[in-house]
Formats: sequence, structure tokens, C-alpha cells
Amino acid sequence: MRILLQFPEGLKKIAKIEAEKLEKEGHEVFISASPCWGGCDLALDEAKKIKAKKIIHYGHCKFHEVKGIEVEYKLYPIDVDLNLIKKEIKKIKNFKKIGLITNVSHIHQFSDFKKIFIQEGFEVFSSKGKLTQFEGQVLGCDSLAADNIANKVDLIVYIGGGNFHPLGLSSSKKIFVINPFVKQSYFLDEELLKKQKREKGMLLAALQAKNIGIIVSTKSGQFNLKAAMLAKKRLEKFNKKVFILITNEVNFEALKDFNFFDVFITTACPRLEDDYLRVEKPILNISKLPSLLLLLKQIEN
Ligand code: SF4
Repeated sequence: MRILLQFPEGLKKIAKIEAEKLEKEGHEVFISASPCWGGCDLALDEAKKIKAKKIIHYGHCKFHEVKGIEVEYKLYPIDVDLNLIKKEIKKIKNFKKIGLITNVSHIHQFSDFKKIFIQEGFEVFSSKGKLTQFEGQVLGCDSLAADNIANKVDLIVYIGGGNFHPLGLSSSKKIFVINPFVKQSYFLDEELLKKQKREKGMLLAALQAKNIGIIVSTKSGQFNLKAAMLAKKRLEKFNKKVFILITNEVNFEALKDFNFFDVFITTACPRLEDDYLRVEKPILNISKLPSLLLLLKQIEN
């Protein structure tokens, strides 16, 4: 069978081993060299061009339905040292009820994580998101596993590397991170404050903007032209000049070159917001459009 393999950034290093295994089984194997950041980003056009019968997508689970080609998702589980959790848990002894979340790399150990917290006397809450596959799993664009239970808990505990996932949470609950890669744990207070300030600043910048670029990505799970067109129509009523920018991969240098835009609004990955420094312009997530329109209306009156 002709198969296209797709690896996210950080996992492209295992492409050779995986490709060789499949070749030995008699398959004709191709490897996508495009960037890939999530299950939202299937290489459908590349697969179509080379007439592949199947895509094997590594490191993420299913994000959306796909028609016309078989897609197999292969996770890449990374074990967390459970002793680290047992050790770091001591820092949060003052909290009784916790919400537990992790990302897809460690989701296979979620019940083990839960057991440890219960054994240590915590009441543990967990939930499932909308775009995710597993209880307790969060994505950069789906924090419902935490937000659903935020009002029942004193603290959200995230087990995983970096701050990308916990900083995507919508609730204002306190967050504690246990990072298995650097073997450290910490509260996210300062970063959350920075994020809130930044979001306010972006909204204010959009309020004053004359020229707005709305980003639409053609990536399979991010494409939302309808939202972009509706946003354009609504913003133009407030005398904003709005253009819709179509791209597959967002190239920050290219965006910078459109120097007449004051602000960008993303209908693509919501976490493009985090990359505003690379564009040197504010980037507002489309989910903030209602707040922006409300403020514009208030100013008008
Ligand atoms: S839309 Fe963004 S945050 Fe969501 S899965 Fe895709 S890359 Fe990750």
C-alpha cells in the first residue's frame, strides 16, 4: 500500500525507523516534510497529490473526521517517573480538591497519576474535552477537561512539559505544573498574570486598529473561512478595513511584511496569539471577537 507518514515537530527523528518497518512489510512509504503541530494538521493535500491510500499520523490522536482517505493515528507515549509526582505533591498539601490534567504524551498513565493523588488524600476531579479523545487530556485549543471541573476544585494540576497547555486554560483557577522533563514543579501565577495582561492589551489594540488581517489556515482541522467572513462583515460596520489572509502554515516573516496591518485576528490555531512577538503586531483569537464588537459598540454610543 502507498502510505504517507506524518510526524510532528520533535518526532521527525523517528521517521527512519518507522518508514523502514513499513517498507519491510511491503508498503511503499513516503514521508511528509511539512511542519505539523497537531492532529488538526493532516497532510491531506500531500497524500492526494501522491495518490497515497493511507496517512499514518504520529504523536497525536484524532482531532476531526476525514473523508476519502484512511488515517491511522499512532501515539508516542512518554513515561513520567511516578516518584517525581509523589515527591512534588508535598508542595500542594494545603489544597484538598484538585483537577487533574495532562497531555497526549502521558495520557496512558492518567489513572496511575490519579491513584497517587487519591492515596495522598486529595479529592481528584477530571473531565473530558470536546476535541480530545481521553479523560484528563488537554490540547492547546481544548482546555475543557480542566474548565469543566474548575468550579469544583481548589487547584488544577497539570502533568507535562512546558507551559503551552496549562496557559491555554480558560478558567482563572490556580495552576500547579509538574514537569517530568526538567523534574520540577511550580505554580503558574506569574505567567497567568502576564497572559491576562497581554490579552487585555491585544483587545485594546484591536479596538484602535484601522487595518485588520484575519488569518485563515487551510490546515484540515483549522480551516474556518465562514468565521473569518462573518468577522470581516461585522468589523467593517465599525469602519475597520479588513482583509482575509489565506495560508496553510502561518509564516511570521510573511505576516510581518504586510506592514499596513495594525492587528491580526486568527481563525486558525488559537495559540497563534502566543506568537505575537514574532509578528511584532498583536494577534487576537477569533473567540475574542464578541468582546471586541461589544467594546466597539460601547465606544460608538
Ligand atoms: S489547533 Fe493549535 S492547539 Fe489545537 S491541536 Fe492544532 S496546533 Fe494544537
